[in-house]
Formats: sequence, C-alpha cells, structure tokens
Amino acid sequence: MTVSMDEISAFAAIPEATSKVTPMMEQYLEIKAANADCLLFYRMGDFYELFFSDAEIASRTLGIALTKRGKHLGADIPMCGVPVHAADEYLQRLIRFGHRVAVCEQLEDPAEARKRGSKSVVRRDVIRLVTPGTLTEDTLLDSRRHNYLAAVARVRGDGELALAWADISSGELAVMTTAPARLMADLARLEPGEIILPDSLLDDAGLAAAFRQSGASLSPLPAVRFDSAAGERRLKQHFSVAALDAFGDFSRAEIASLGGLLDYIILTQVGRVPVLRNPRHEDATRAMLIDPATRANLELTRTLSGERNGSLQSAIDMTVTAAGARVLAERLANPLTDHLAINERLDEVDYFFAFRDLREEIRQALASMPDMERALARLSLGRGGPRDLAVIRDGLSGSRSLSHFIADDRELRVRPHAIAAASGLLSAIPEGLAGELARALADELPLLARDGGLVRAGYLDELDGYRKLRDDTRQVIAELQATYAEQTCVRSLKIRYNNVLGYYIEVSAQNATALTGPEATATFIHRQTMAGAMRFTTTELAGLESRIAAAADRALSIESEIFDRLVAAVLQESGDISRIAATVAALDVAVSLAELASRHHYIRPRVDGSLQFHVRAGRHPVVEQAIEKQAQGSFIANNSDLSGDGQRLWLVTGPNMAGKSTFLRQNALIVILAQMGCYVPAAEAHIGVADRLFSRVGAADDLARGRSTFMVEMVETAAILNQATERSFVILDEIGRGTATFDGLSIAWATVEHLHEVNRCRGLFATHYHELTALSSTLPHLANATVKVREWKGEVVFLHEVVPGVADRSYGIQVAQLAGLPAAVIDRATEVLKLLEDGEKAVDRKALVDDLPLFAATRPQSSNMHGFREPTALALKLAGIAADELTPRAALDLIYELKRLQDTP
Ligand code: ATP
Repeated sequence: MTVSMDEISAFAAIPEATSKVTPMMEQYLEIKAANADCLLFYRMGDFYELFFSDAEIASRTLGIALTKRGKHLGADIPMCGVPVHAADEYLQRLIRFGHRVAVCEQLEDPAEARKRGSKSVVRRDVIRLVTPGTLTEDTLLDSRRHNYLAAVARVRGDGELALAWADISSGELAVMTTAPARLMADLARLEPGEIILPDSLLDDAGLAAAFRQSGASLSPLPAVRFDSAAGERRLKQHFSVAALDAFGDFSRAEIASLGGLLDYIILTQVGRVPVLRNPRHEDATRAMLIDPATRANLELTRTLSGERNGSLQSAIDMTVTAAGARVLAERLANPLTDHLAINERLDEVDYFFAFRDLREEIRQALASMPDMERALARLSLGRGGPRDLAVIRDGLSGSRSLSHFIADDRELRVRPHAIAAASGLLSAIPEGLAGELARALADELPLLARDGGLVRAGYLDELDGYRKLRDDTRQVIAELQATYAEQTCVRSLKIRYNNVLGYYIEVSAQNATALTGPEATATFIHRQTMAGAMRFTTTELAGLESRIAAAADRALSIESEIFDRLVAAVLQESGDISRIAATVAALDVAVSLAELASRHHYIRPRVDGSLQFHVRAGRHPVVEQAIEKQAQGSFIANNSDLSGDGQRLWLVTGPNMAGKSTFLRQNALIVILAQMGCYVPAAEAHIGVADRLFSRVGAADDLARGRSTFMVEMVETAAILNQATERSFVILDEIGRGTATFDGLSIAWATVEHLHEVNRCRGLFATHYHELTALSSTLPHLANATVKVREWKGEVVFLHEVVPGVADRSYGIQVAQLAGLPAAVIDRATEVLKLLEDGEKAVDRKALVDDLPLFAATRPQSSNMHGFREPTALALKLAGIAADELTPRAALDLIYELKRLQDTP
C-alpha cells in the first residue's frame, strides 16, 4: 500500500479562509474524537502519521522531527510520522512513557477508493488500542516476566472490593476478593502494567493512593463497564458456559471486575479476544501477604536501585524457557501459606533433585522449547505470523519428547502426582494438528504471511503448479519457444520480453512468412515490424503471460488461505495447547529449582503448620553468590531458632558492618523460598508457615509523597505493629535512627515490647541501641544475639558469626575509618566518644529497665527519659556566657577558667 504526496497534502488542503475541512481531515477528526485519550497512529501508506497535539507529544517523546502540513482553522497543523516497519520500536517507547496508542489502518487499497471518485478518501479505522496492559508483541514485552492487566471493582459505594487480572500474552486469568487495607500489597505482588477501574474509585483517597503507589498506568472507565450483571453475561458468552459456578464461587464484585476486564480487552482489541484460560478463583489467604515496602526492601525481583542483577530472582532463576521464568517470578511473588500445597511443589523438586541425569536431559530438551503461550496469544488476536505457527509446531513436538522423560517412575521412586499428571498432559498433544503443521509449514519461514513462502513444497499440488509457473518462467517460455521453432521450422525463433509488449515472438524478416503464410500451424498475431525482424504473439503466449503474472498472486492467496486455515486449526485446539504450555513451564520451574539446589547446596525445608522457625547454618542466597563470584572468601553460615513457644524474638546487636542486616534478610528470604516451594540455603530448616512477612530495613525518604526518611520508617513500623499476627514473620533493621537519640531509643524500646506482648510474632530486631538488650531480663520470649568481631591492633576484624549474647560496642568509628573519613575527624570523634562514654558510666542499664516498666513508651513517660546524661561543668559554664557583655580582661579570665574546667576530670 502506498500513499502519494497528494494524499498527504489532501489532508488539509482547504485554504485557511474557509471553515470547511477536507474529507480526509473530517475522517481523521472523527476517528480522533472516538479515541480522544489515545495518540492516534493514522496510517498513510508506509507511515503512521500523527497530527496536532499528538504529533507534538510524539515528536518530543520519540525525538523525531515535527513538521507542518496544511492549515486547520487558520493555524498550521503539526505533523510527524513513524515508518510502519519500525512502528513496534516507537510504540514501545510511547507505552513506556505512559501513553496509549490507537492504531488506525487503511482498510482498502487506495486504488479501490479512487474507483469511488477522485475525491474519495481511503477507508480507515482503528484496529487496535495499544495500552501498557494489553501488549502481545515480543518486541514490546519482556519475555521472562508477566505483563498483567488488572481490574479493580467494588459493588455499591463501600462494599466488597475485587481484583481481577489477566496476562493476555499468555492467557492467564484470575480473580480474588481484596480489601482497601491490602489492595496495595496485592497490586505490589502482581506489578500490573495497567489497572482499569471505575472512575468513582478514585474519589476514595486511600484507594487512589494505592493505585498511584502501584506504579501502573491507570485507566479509569465509566462505572457501567463494571456492571456485574452485564459482566456475568459477557463471561458466560465468552467461556460458553451456562453458569460460572464451574470455575468457582464468584462474588458480585469479582464478577464485576472480571467482566470489566474482559470488556476492556475486547475494546482494546477491537472485537478480537485472545485465548484466555478459564478464570481461576484465588483465595486471599492462599498467598503470604507481603506489603510493597517489604517486597522492595527484600529486593525480591529487583534491587532498591531498580536492577534485576542482585535481586533474589536473579540468584535463583535457572529456568531455561521464558514461560518457565514467568512462572518462577510469579511463584516468587506469591509464596503460599498452605503447607500441603508447598510440600507438593517441594516433592517435585525433590524428584528431579534425586536424578541428575534426568534433570540434564530435560533441561536440554527444554532449551529448544519455544514460547507457545505468547505465540498462541498473537495468533488469537490476528497478530500472529507464520513463525508463530512454527512455534506451536515445534512446541507440540517438543512436548511429546519431554513426556517420554517423565513417562515412568524411576529407580523404584514413585513420581509425585504432579509429575505423573504432567507426563499425561504432555503426551496428549493434538496429533492431527501437530502432523498438519509439520506437513504444511516450510523450514525457513517469512515474518509475514503476505510475503509468501510459508508452505512446504509438496504440500498442495495446485500451489506447487502456480509456484512452478511463477518461478520456472524461463523454463516454461523456453519450452514454448522450442515448440514454436519446431512447428514453424524456424530454428532462430525466439520468445523475448520487454516492458512495452510483454512476451513476444521474434523472427527475422525472411522467416516471417513461416508464421504468416498459409502453412503456419498456429495463429501468430502480428505485433510489430522492426528493421530486419518481425514480432508476433499468440493467444497461448498472451495467456501464459497473464497466467505467469496471476500465478504469483494466486500462489500468495493460496498460501494465505492455508495460513488462515492453520491458524483456525491451532485456535480450535487452543485449550489443549495452552494447558500443555503451562505444563512445560511448570516442569521447567521444578527442574530448575532442583538444579539450583544441587549447584548451590540448598536443602529441602521441613514446612508445616507449626510456629517453628529453626534454621541451621543458613546463608543469604544473593550475598553468598556475590562472595563466591568475587572469590572473596566464603559466606559464614548462621543458625537461628525462633519458635512460637520459645525465644521467638531475637534482638541482634553488633558492630557496624558485622552482618546484622544480612542475617535478618537471609532469614526472611529463607521463609519466602521455603513457602514458594524452593529448597533453601541452609544445612537444615524447619519452617512453620508464615501468613505475612514484614520487613523494615534500610532508610529512604519518599519525598514525592511528602514523607521524610523518619516518617517512612514510622509508617512501615506502624504497619507491622498494627498487622503482624502470631503467625507472621518480622524483620526490623534499626528502628528510630532518624530522630533524636532518646526519641529513637524510646520508640525502639516500645516497639520490641509491643512485638513481644501483643503481636507475639516470630522476628529479628537489629539495633545499635545496646540499652535494649536489658529487656531480655523481663521479656521471656526475647533473646539477645550478637555478631562477633575481633579487635586486632586497634582495627576490627569481622567474623560474621551470630552467637548468643550482647555486643559491647558498635565500633562505628573504626568502620568510619575504614570508609576513609579524614584522620582529624576520626581523632576528634574518638575524643568525643570517650567523653560521652565517661558521662554515661553513671547510668546503670538495669536501673533503666526498672525505671521503664512495660509499655512505658506508650504512656507519657517522656520526662523519665531526660536527664539521662548530666551536662558537664564546662558545658554549663559555656552556656552561661554572655559574650557581648564581656570586657577583654574578663574574657581572658574566662578562658583560663574554661581551660581549668576542661582539664578537671
Ligand atoms: P550496619 O550496622 O552498618 O548496617 P550490618 O551489621 O547490618 O551493618 P551487613 O550490611 O549485614 O552489616 O554486612 C556488611 C557486609 O558484610 C555485607 O555486605 C557482606 O559483604 C558481609 N557479610 C555479612 N554477613 C556475612 C556472612 N555471614 N558471611 C560473609 N560475609 C558477610
């Protein structure tokens, strides 16, 4: 399809004096008005053009030239364009910057339009809305991560809240009931690319904050799109069921959110619906609740600085396929709470852990498995190409070979149920389809069906004939030339070609009579007389010529019919294909986790419904790998024993840089790994499932939301103290550091007491407030632990070993010296520390405990906290000086007096 410059100038060729618009402008404005919230990619030949403010936005975002074309209402029309063949790249950038794009195509050839009259405009319409949550192209997506579109709906004003989500590039669809208080956590676990919601939900400040915090692109829609009755009808129709009960027991809000989601998908795909698996109903208590701050702090999927490298995911992901990586990421984001389900997953890992050779074989076979889920999604949306068909072909045959590896129990070991079931699923591939794809598709495939060449030679005689005619033109013409030469006995007869005549027969003037004379056997029609030569044609040659031209077209259209038929056949089996793809992905995860366990010496944790937390020789999965990689010695393993009835809360003190944070985090990560169904880096682990995981680590401000570092710290602490249950697992790394010493100490003190007495959760609390260690004498479930260091020639040596006990000091100045603080500062700090410590000697820590009964910080006890350290005589004297009133003589006397005070101990 091409477009002429005439068409571009026809866009707005009406002189500025008139208020009329051109027909094309009229068409543009109409389509734009119907898609006002999108940038409009308006197809003109080989370009998508953008106009008016769309052009300004796109040229700024994409860094492409902004031009002007014609006038509208007296003003220049800004315009810019992107070539169709490179459109994906530009789309990706626009979507990343939060824009939505409506792709408007030419729906007919410009020649067709011209037949209706020279002023006719090519028919165009929007064929798709590209939004962050509805992408399917590999170029627009990260192959190893899900891209969710989420929908939130609420029935009545303040009723039940439901969250539905789909990944249209893989067909996943699920729904759950949530609540305002946990919406943020649920969204953080999904990390959706886009959230759709009834616009009225944004009136609720709390919900609006949760939506914004998710970082997703928000698409508020009119509330009618979330009507539960209409949603139910839509869902039943889409899944061809009479009642939704077959999929689960859905509440009205859940149906409203699912219905809204489906409606939006149909809207953005302009009528086409991707393959979606049956909606999965998720119980809100099925997954461990992890709030967004904890997820971020524990660097589960990316580090605090936003990088993948260095995250837990990057340390444990040994999957071979992209679909496997997506499932692993999903499991990591959703550790389970049902210990039976966790153990089923662990059983699978266990099986592959036991058979190294089996693992190797499966991993090798998986390496050539393509991404069937995403290919299927593209095919179902009419966006697929021949290579997507090949993905299904190769995926199906790969699945068949994978099934052989797990077809039987091995070496007297019974396969876990899930593996036996996977074997059945993988071997039950739609044979008819697999065979048809293998027979029909060529080995080398074009990107687009319209390029032709996708069907294997020998598949269809008719197609082969047309291709022969097209490709073997020379041969066919040579054969005809030989026939005519023989018939006319003119051995020099030639069939030639030029642009004016097309194919023609040429003989020398002397031989012409053989063609025109009465003996001529065929009817040679005279076309041209040249000097010394005459040119003829025959109906046969003319027919052959048009057949040659038509053959190419015909071959293409037959191929296109075959392509459409194959796509339809694939979609017919989409349910099976999608199940097979999910099984392959799950197999990849189980095998990869076994490989991880084997390579890094992880063990199977004992996971049950108790309140135990016992880890022997636990390690930090990420720090350990970093240390190994940099060959910086080895990671020091540490034990932890927090059990509901024993010493469930540990207060960890120790010098800076000793390894407190690492110890805290490694235990939280071990909980996550165990509950996602992964082996853990330890020698032994017994974990009673945690319902929620909380962490308060690191310090960062959130200036955008008007929160200082200390405020962020307190908000996170408040969430823990208000929500942690007996079954929760909490790590708190430093509390109260961002405020005055005594305020901070009091808050930390009261926090420990609250966790111990009220939350009664299992937890680790690291602190530099050594005063807190005294609490262990009054709190029976609190234990003190410390990280050992050795002092050697005035320098600290970090042993990274966690032992029972209390740190005597923080060695902050030594660590500051290691960090390169100027010597003068270090010397001065040492002096100041000595002074401060001397002042503190008077304070008995035990007395502090007695002075502060339980929950002291919750009562107005602040006056008790002051007078902790007596001001020195020197300080008192200095404070009383009225400098402006001193005579020179009095000032000199004062200096002598201050000097004397300083020298007096
Ligand atoms: P601070 O009180 O200053 O925050 P910290 O006690 O929390 O310090 P970490 O940040 O946990 O100390 O550890 C500092 C460094 O020590 C880590 O970056 C890591 O390289 C190393 N480290 C910590 N624990 C271990 C361990 N068990 N084995 C080996 N190296 C460790």
